[in-house]
Amino acid sequence: MTTDPDLPGLHIGGVPREGGGTEHYEVRDPATGRVVSSRPEADVRDVDDAVRAAHTSFADWSRTTPAERSTLLSRWAAELDTVAAELADIETLQAGKPIRLSSGFDVPGSIDNVAFFAGAARNLEGRSSAEYSPDHTSSIRREPIGVIGSIAPWNYPLQMAVWKILPAVAAGNTVVLKPAEITPLTSVMLADAATRAGIPAGVVNVITGSGASTGASLVRHPDVRMVSFTGSTPVGTQIAAAAAGKRLHLELGGKAPFVVFDDADLDAAINGAVAAALINTGQDCTAATRAYVQRSRYDEFVAGVATLMDTVIVGAPGDPATDQGPLVSRRQQQHVAGFVERARADGARVVRGGAIPGGKLAEGYYYEPTLIVDADQRSEIVQQEVFGPVLVVLPFDDDAEAIALANDTPYGLAASAWTRDVYRAQTAAREIAAGCVWINDHIPIISEMPHGGYKASGYGKDMSTYSFEEYTVVKHVMSDITGIARKDWHRTVFGR
Ligand code: NAP
Ligand code: MG
Repeated sequence: MTTDPDLPGLHIGGVPREGGGTEHYEVRDPATGRVVSSRPEADVRDVDDAVRAAHTSFADWSRTTPAERSTLLSRWAAELDTVAAELADIETLQAGKPIRLSSGFDVPGSIDNVAFFAGAARNLEGRSSAEYSPDHTSSIRREPIGVIGSIAPWNYPLQMAVWKILPAVAAGNTVVLKPAEITPLTSVMLADAATRAGIPAGVVNVITGSGASTGASLVRHPDVRMVSFTGSTPVGTQIAAAAAGKRLHLELGGKAPFVVFDDADLDAAINGAVAAALINTGQDCTAATRAYVQRSRYDEFVAGVATLMDTVIVGAPGDPATDQGPLVSRRQQQHVAGFVERARADGARVVRGGAIPGGKLAEGYYYEPTLIVDADQRSEIVQQEVFGPVLVVLPFDDDAEAIALANDTPYGLAASAWTRDVYRAQTAAREIAAGCVWINDHIPIISEMPHGGYKASGYGKDMSTYSFEEYTVVKHVMSDITGIARKDWHRTVFGR
């Protein structure tokens, strides 16, 4: 079974439909630049219909039992399983991901996340009910919030859609998702699968269109109670202002440090750095971007990374032999190329890559695996998010300097420390200000554990039961247990 990628980009109230906008969004194959889908964007009326559908279904969905939600989410995971191969093909087509990545990571990881929340729906936790005052019993209710307006980026389209939608609906909320307009296809397939699984109409809605129009109308809609956003820090900042007064969840950019101490297994660190810098063509918010290597091992590390980068096969994403596919768009390719050009002009040295490949790759949005040294810590290439296959390596002298350099950017999403010394590892884990610190690895994520940032990388957690805290509101119910009319505390008012 193959899916026609040229599907309507909206799914509202359980029904696929065409947007009413006059502008069209375009989905292109990043490997060739060919348009694979061009459809009308969602307009203001579509946004309103989607929010209305979500608002209407909230009344019933929020009253389903955890067991009922769990059963439906399990069926949803099973429906996705039956279309796993198509999901991987479409993800590769729209995002340019190597097929080994989509079929081995994006799709199974997403399905596992759906299955995780099917179980987690029955495990919402809170403080125990008790007599915290002698005269009352207090209990906690963890309630869903209402309609969640979710906005997702293009780098892991299916996974980001799942991370946004699943904790929300597992907790009894309903969702309107706006995927990135260049990668909406698997989000629409996800919503289709929800309908096939029997999830009531209106619980999961998808509207495709640009951020500036469709996204902005969703954020501002008065019936959207919470805005959940994953994307860049500048857009997150705009959304925070536009959504003032609403609950917010922001998963923003990253600039992950990769700290290699002199006692590290250098072979492991070299393999880890290249894999973690190039995964998804570097378009990963937790990608290794800045390697800090203790000076005595620095030359060996740089040489090892260069040699390993030479073996990376850049090519067509559909080819199982491909290690690194294209970037997602011509715009992203120009963005990455601009960063490397400015780094060069700034005096940094490009040891490998640093160019757009020619020949048969020229029509796609490719960029070579790139290794940069001799950059200044304060320079743009070290401080700002490139979101491409670019690793910068810098030396350090002592442990305190390594930690200080690792913390010296506005971001704080993820980091790793490479050492065989348990004390160094524990110190790095404690001192690095990031939502995840890996020890002797960099990239793996798991449904049971939270993902989310410090500092300019945002706030709130995706995945894991911690995400329920984002998509639920805690209510305190305090019940008098004395039956007395004139209560003790009334003395503060009545005097006698
Ligand atoms: P982006 O440009 O910030 O866009 C993200 C989403 O926001 C897209 O759907 C975009 O719509 C929409 N948008 C843009 N302006 C908007 C507005 N004014 N109002 C409402 N929505 C608006 O990010 P991107 O380029 O797609 O993705 C890359 C970024 O995502 C990187 O910074 C990366 O670090 C971050 N990211 C973070 C995490 C995390 O968990 N922390 C995970 C993945 C990615 P369009 O369709 O028009 O683009
Ligand atoms: Mg964008």
